[in-house]
Amino acid sequence: MVQSIDRSQGRHGGVVPSPAVSETSTGNRGLQLEERLIFEYAHADRSGVDLPPPPRVKDRLGGLRRRGAIGLPGLAEPQVVQHYTRLSQKNYAIDSGLYPLGSCTMKHNPRLNERMARLPGFADVHPLQPQSTVQGAIELIATLADWLTTLTGMPAVAMSPAAGAHGEMCGMMAIAAALAAAGEGHRKIVLVPESAHGTNPATAAALGFTVKPIPATTDGHVDVAAFKAALGPDVAAIMLTNPNTCGLFERDIREVADAVRAAGAYFYCDGANYNAIVGRVRPGDLGVDCMHINLHKTFSTPHGGGGPGSGPVVLSERLAPFAPRPWVVRDGDAWRLAEEDGAVADTSLGRLKAFHGQMGMFVRALAYMLSHGADGLRQVAEDAVLNANYVMARLKAELTPAFEGPCMHECLFDDGFLKDTGVTTLDFAKAMIDEGYHPMTMYFPLVVHGAMLIEPTETQGKHALDEFCDAMLHLARKAKSGATADEFRAAPRFAPRRRLDETQAARKPVLRWRPTNRGPGDDGPLRQAAE
Ligand SMILES: *Cc1c(COP(=O)(O)O)cnc(C)c1O
Repeated sequence: MVQSIDRSQGRHGGVVPSPAVSETSTGNRGLQLEERLIFEYAHADRSGVDLPPPPRVKDRLGGLRRRGAIGLPGLAEPQVVQHYTRLSQKNYAIDSGLYPLGSCTMKHNPRLNERMARLPGFADVHPLQPQSTVQGAIELIATLADWLTTLTGMPAVAMSPAAGAHGEMCGMMAIAAALAAAGEGHRKIVLVPESAHGTNPATAAALGFTVKPIPATTDGHVDVAAFKAALGPDVAAIMLTNPNTCGLFERDIREVADAVRAAGAYFYCDGANYNAIVGRVRPGDLGVDCMHINLHKTFSTPHGGGGPGSGPVVLSERLAPFAPRPWVVRDGDAWRLAEEDGAVADTSLGRLKAFHGQMGMFVRALAYMLSHGADGLRQVAEDAVLNANYVMARLKAELTPAFEGPCMHECLFDDGFLKDTGVTTLDFAKAMIDEGYHPMTMYFPLVVHGAMLIEPTETQGKHALDEFCDAMLHLARKAKSGATADEFRAAPRFAPRRRLDETQAARKPVLRWRPTNRGPGDDGPLRQAAE
């Protein structure tokens, strides 16, 4: 078996001992099989299909015909199936166990949603089909839009954004368009609290705004006095998250909203944490101008690994005319996605993406809403908050809560309890992997030292929460007992890969496989050339 994978992953100056995988002759651990890159066992003459040779046709490609080998791995069907199955077994997922990643709302994805999304009338439609043939799909978008505007108490919603960050982009573009239309285009400053998710300042900066950070108070809230002092004739908007990323409800939010409006600016609310208040608080009543809703968080559509997500943006009366195309409209008995005609305001900011939104996510989110009902959604928020507070109450025996008092849907700890132990938040997180837990969000929000942000969600029962808390308490006691710092630094010991050099991976990512020594018909091993 040719092994070209460097298994000695520890690149932390030799701190990490030799990998545990070397304990077996094969590199396999139990029935978890070590996996080579698919190119490493490929053969140019192997194929999963048996096609007749192509008929001779006149070459109409001009000079564009490929001359070299295509570089795809030649594999038999079982090899492909086994490869991807093994990879999937290395992938921790919400279907594997508790996933306490704070601010990500990793809740169970009900299988009913999946069944609905696979109905051929939804799964097999094409966005370029004549609209008369997809009336049900368009009606579903309108029905979901109605639920979203009703739940949030907002008059309009833009459905097409493909993720939370894309929704931020949409909302801030609407704000920019509204300001330009009012001759207020000189407003270029966006106020962003220091605890904000990185996408908030990134969105504002990408659209040409200047980001001005607003400090947090010592109790984890936005500093309202500092915020008011920063308001002025050049301020375009504030981007505020509520509940915020410290897991706390911004109690002064009405005061913030009134001040923003009085100053002629707009209030962007980051609604990623909407799960904590759905069915209980209508953001429209709080005075927000726009808010994205991560359907993949609050409304249980699958996420992780980069998507697909869905981030509809609810809009206030004053931003609604700037909503992106297409607009869903009803003409008599028929539904329509209106683009250019009189049904869409001339002020619309235009298209955000090629088609009309993430249809599969729409179906799942609506299935989730309909199966929960209004009372069920309210209970979602209540149970999410209850679970987080249960975890907080148990863990504060050994860990240090960042702030006093109850939390919303996620509980935040700092690294105070690890002081003088030689163990860092990162080491602690890696040790959790060995105990069978995906780490919580760490080092975020930035306003808390060595932050550990835990969001259990409402879909974990008490037994699962207790097992998780037991493991966390055990690790905290172990870290504090001293003399185990080396063990923590060596974690994870049981994962297929150990500590990777994250800095190298970020700075010098190898993104492309380049077979360097393979000519047509050459079965020799392939080598990778890093770029
Ligand atoms: C998840 C998240 C976002 C970004 O949402 P994506 O769907 O991942 O793009 C923005 N803000 C907060 C607070 C979040 O938790």
